[in-house]
Amino acid sequence: MTDLFENFQGADIDRLTDCLQAIRKAGLKVDRHTMAGVNQNSGNVWVWSEDWAGAVACSIGFDVFWVYSCPECGEEWEFEEYATMEQYASQFEGQCGQCEEVTA
Ligand SMILES: [Zn+2]
Repeated sequence: MTDLFENFQGADIDRLTDCLQAIRKAGLKVDRHTMAGVNQNSGNVWVWSEDWAGAVACSIGFDVFWVYSCPECGEEWEFEEYATMEQYASQFEGQCGQCEEVTA
């Protein structure tokens, strides 16, 4: 995060702030291992820590949501609340609903 103002400019700083607020609201903490960035394709600002069930993102339109990336197929699942995502992640353990259907 040393290049904070090099990586985040203009409205992206506001998006980062929204992400940090969502993280606080979810009862999570950021530390030196937490990563953040701007998705060059979507324009979304994201913050992620390996201790979390997924990442938080703020879109161009300032929608804040949580993203669970399936380790199995790479599919991304979006959730409004961290708790809902955490529940989803624990339900499938390293998979997603889609993978489970294929395996079942
Ligand atoms: Zn999957």
